[in-house]
Amino acid sequence: MRRKELDSEEMLRFLLDFCAVNTINGREGCENNGTKFLYESLKTIPYFQENPECLFLQMVEGDPLKRKNLVAFLKANPTTKKTIILSGHIDTVDTEACGPLKDLAFQPLQYTQALSKADIREEIRSELQSGEYLAGRGVADMKSGLAAQWAVMKYYALHMEKLRVNLLWIPVVDEENNANGIHQAVEYFCSLRDEKYEFLCCIDSEPTITPESKECGRIYLGTIGMVTPFVLAVGKESHVGEYFEGISAALMAFHLGIAIENNPEFTEIYMEKKYPPICCLRTMDFRKSYSVTVPNRFAMYFNYLFVRKRPGDILHLIRQLAVSSAKNALEQANTGKKAVKIRTFEELCTEYEQKSGRSHEEGLKAFIRRCPQDMDIQDCCLHFVNELCGEVQLEGPAFVIGFLPPYCPSRVNLRISEKERKVEAIAEQLIEARKEEGIDIRLSEVYEGISDLSELGFQGDDEDISLLRKNLVGLNVGTPYPLEKMQQLDIPVINIGPIGKDAHKRGERLYLPYFQDVLPGLLLDFIEKMQSDEGKS
Ligand SMILES: [Zn+2]
Repeated sequence: MRRKELDSEEMLRFLLDFCAVNTINGREGCENNGTKFLYESLKTIPYFQENPECLFLQMVEGDPLKRKNLVAFLKANPTTKKTIILSGHIDTVDTEACGPLKDLAFQPLQYTQALSKADIREEIRSELQSGEYLAGRGVADMKSGLAAQWAVMKYYALHMEKLRVNLLWIPVVDEENNANGIHQAVEYFCSLRDEKYEFLCCIDSEPTITPESKECGRIYLGTIGMVTPFVLAVGKESHVGEYFEGISAALMAFHLGIAIENNPEFTEIYMEKKYPPICCLRTMDFRKSYSVTVPNRFAMYFNYLFVRKRPGDILHLIRQLAVSSAKNALEQANTGKKAVKIRTFEELCTEYEQKSGRSHEEGLKAFIRRCPQDMDIQDCCLHFVNELCGEVQLEGPAFVIGFLPPYCPSRVNLRISEKERKVEAIAEQLIEARKEEGIDIRLSEVYEGISDLSELGFQGDDEDISLLRKNLVGLNVGTPYPLEKMQQLDIPVINIGPIGKDAHKRGERLYLPYFQDVLPGLLLDFIEKMQSDEGKS
């Protein structure tokens, strides 16, 4: 169902030009070049010439790289406050995975050719040789999604008479790391809401990411949440020759790590679908060199993709497992001890503040400044927790538990509000209509690839927010994380994006026929149906 209003050849050329702009996350100037590219692509359109205040770069406040989002606002005539948001991310991950071909990764045509001759799986080679796939960094994740949104914006900018509601396009920076871009956008949405703007929904266009069939299109009604729980084991130091006088923090952590990984109590089943298990991402001791001493500190952190689990439930589960794992470890090491102390990060901070009279947040800020430039925020935070354990002289056996950055709330369509039900109903109509033409598109509840749609609301309550504020190390320092504002916004979301494969890997590729012939039509139809009974009042 190619919609003749949109020029799919022009959209492909736009994609190739956009890919040629290196927008690797976190590199000085890169993402801003992408924002500038998008700005230039719209500024000559008469609507924006006549309404220059509707097209601007938005500074991400407090961002160390001074990155900027783009804002393009099409305001319907007659005026209305009803608005549909289109959003996506400008940044990509780096090209290290592309190995010797990494210098070509921003030239998709050349890269596709070169990759098809490289040592790759046959299945990828035949897809690349078929001419139906385009490979390169960002082609799927997610410059093609932005290219399709751009085509839709351009179409409406040239045909304003067809708009009954406003369209707000806001491509953001920093999705692949700290989500600073969408956090700034949230601030902006809140200021618009104060001016009485009403958001009907937010459309993202991330590529399909799924462990299931990768050959069909997908429309997602929600997005998965991600949290990073940590545990820090505190044992007791002793010479290895006097092993039984000490308690190995490593042994305690091993037991707990085994108890947590892929534990079915974490794995969520939502609307009959099972989501990925919890998985350890990193373990660390805090030693600088070799020592024949039983280790007294050992930490690890986990990736946990969740749908409906509340942060308090996660912490509670980890606490229970910490108690039973400590018991097993103490038995195995014949320590004669049975009791273990469990401290949440919040409890550790309270103890620290009572003993020292100083705020732990000030301490953390100063600590982060002292950390080496190349140390990531997770390591910084864990070293800080370790330092607090020392400050309060926490005696082992003990576990400290809590969360590290990053954190993304989950967002699902609960079919509670009128707007949510409308989004779902239209998605189903679009899929049904394609089915008649033999195009296979499936409706999925939750996007598993992690997206900025997380930040368009917060489906927990004040208790959840308070628990996160107190137990997520670093949440209140650095660039602000607007959880409370997200909670107030509560914008229904949908992801209508291209068919992509192997995002973030060297074989990242885009299925062109769907991108050119199906995706733009889906976006256009969705917007048309969304606005069909709006704007009459
Ligand atoms: Zn993405």
